[in-house]
Amino acid sequence: MKDVHVDDLLVDHVRGDLDVAERDRVGAHLAVCAECRATRERFAALLTELARTVPAPPPIHWGAYRAELRERLARRRGQAGPVWRWLVQPAPALVAAALVVALVVAACRAPRPARASRIRSRSTTRSWRAGST
Ligand SMILES: [Zn+2]
Repeated sequence: MKDVHVDDLLVDHVRGDLDVAERDRVGAHLAVCAECRATRERFAALLTELARTVPAPPPIHWGAYRAELRERLARRRGQAGPVWRWLVQPAPALVAAALVVALVVAACRAPRPARASRIRSRSTTRSWRAGST
């Protein structure tokens, strides 16, 4: 029985990214398949060449980075108008709305002392009159 070629695993084999079982299977196949060995060598040479030709990243200028960050933050703050701020920070708006609701409910539930005393004094007068006659 002929083993299936392992072309799709060769790059990972070169990079060492295979798990143990796959690495062993690829290694066993490479031991008997000259075609895959040659392909693996070409991938290894290609990856080495790519790693060699990748330009080094530019050095980081932290001062310029901080200045750019400050500029972006200032721009963002400048764009945020009052309406947007209410949407972004709803907590103060919710607290204010809850306070208004609480005040309205408290005002509606509170007894009205002037009217209550008037009613009480009238009924007291009636009972006093009724008792006196
Ligand atoms: Zn093969």
